[in-house]
Amino acid sequence: MGDSFQIIVDRDASADEAPRLAAEVHDWLVARRIIEGGLTDSALGNLGYRPGLGYRAAVAGPDEEPGFLSLLTNGLQIEVGRTVFHTIGGELACRACGARFEPEDGWSEAVDDWYSGNDGAEFGCPNCGKPERLVDWNGEFPWGFGNLGFKFWNWPPLSGRFIQDMAEKWGHRMLLVRGHL
Ligand SMILES: [Zn+2]
Repeated sequence: MGDSFQIIVDRDASADEAPRLAAEVHDWLVARRIIEGGLTDSALGNLGYRPGLGYRAAVAGPDEEPGFLSLLTNGLQIEVGRTVFHTIGGELACRACGARFEPEDGWSEAVDDWYSGNDGAEFGCPNCGKPERLVDWNGEFPWGFGNLGFKFWNWPPLSGRFIQDMAEKWGHRMLLVRGHL
């Protein structure tokens, strides 16, 4: 079994405010003991923050001790800077016609366009043709585009309540991106 990740992507953080927000969220998570305060080698070659004693406040599901606590890779990796938070394949749902699809033709070109600096980069629904900005596409397995992301390695499913709390506290839209290696 490989490593899995969940990324909470802040869809609204500007490049300028991302470093400050990253520090604020870090302090908030440490204060609630969801993560430990210090960086360790816990994010698959990157530095991360290990789960704290209060990590349950962030996850959904049963109470039994999950195995991820004993893994070497179980940290929260905070990513600051323009980033494509991608999953494998993905599944998007069109707001206009309801089609669900794995993005293919033209998707990688649109992603390159966004990554090179065009915040308004668009991708058209393969079914009805309706264009939508990349940053606005949703679906069962969406991709994230933004300047700030919180990547939880091998954690149990994060709870919707936790993600909603973050969104309300910072007044930003928070998108959950899930994937595995
Ligand atoms: Zn459509």
